[in-house]
Amino acid sequence: MDKEIIVSIKNLRMRYDEKEVLKGINLEIYKGQIIGYIGANGAGKSTTVKILLGLINDYEGEVKIGGEDITKNKVAYKRRIGYVPETAEIFDNLTAYEYLNFIGELYGLDINEIEKKATKLMTLFNLEKVLHGRISSFSKGMKQKILIIASLIHNPDILFFDEPLSGLDANSVMIFKEILSELANQGKTIFYSSHIMEIVEKISSRIVLLNNGEIVADGTFEELKEKSKEGSLEEIFNQLTGFNKYKEIACEFVSTLQGV
Ligand code: ATP
Repeated sequence: MDKEIIVSIKNLRMRYDEKEVLKGINLEIYKGQIIGYIGANGAGKSTTVKILLGLINDYEGEVKIGGEDITKNKVAYKRRIGYVPETAEIFDNLTAYEYLNFIGELYGLDINEIEKKATKLMTLFNLEKVLHGRISSFSKGMKQKILIIASLIHNPDILFFDEPLSGLDANSVMIFKEILSELANQGKTIFYSSHIMEIVEKISSRIVLLNNGEIVADGTFEELKEKSKEGSLEEIFNQLTGFNKYKEIACEFVSTLQGV
């Protein structure tokens, strides 16, 4: 694998008021890697991604993308990035075609190129019939596919996906997983945040586990498995985040429903 560093994060710290949510993150990400970025709710994953996207500026530490500090030359690096947010306000009143045109133009694509790509990509996702339909009339999975297409239409080098499979049917999940591996083969770098451990385990070339704002594990699935002596990523996750009470919590939850 090409060992070119594409994202470099040094001593990254972030606080919201009194609370330190990132406590000194150090990470070097190489071209072509699929990073499974995992951690419990509130661990700091979205905060890290928002910093990398340039949406949060008041952090401490150094973040470089493509060798350049992200606080310099902000427009140039953003052209190289694609992002599927966990929850998105897409412009519901637009048609899919209008939305993809809008995004394509934002990235400076030629109108003919946008038209060709949008039509083809929509067809590949089985959405050709709704190309000119209003997004407000789409199902959750259909909207998610539009977000995926919009994140990729400008052929970015670095991708940030936050629960990208949300709402996708089983066939589309298979297509999307193949797209990920194809993109990585082409040297694209993918930052993949998800709570679905079975998928992270399968698709990631490297897994980074964040716990309370700190990296507590970093390696291939095989390496993490070897270290923790656990069989699945879910079990590794539970072990490293010090969690083993799921049965007790579930039983207490259900008995509370029955009245205390
Ligand atoms: P999840 O898996 O639930 O999406 P996450 O790992 O992405 O979680 P973050 O959204 O990065 O977690 O949140 C990390 C911590 O920062 C949490 O304690 C959260 O309450 C806090 N936080 C996030 N955004 C803000 C904000 N705008 N103001 C104050 N605190 C925030």
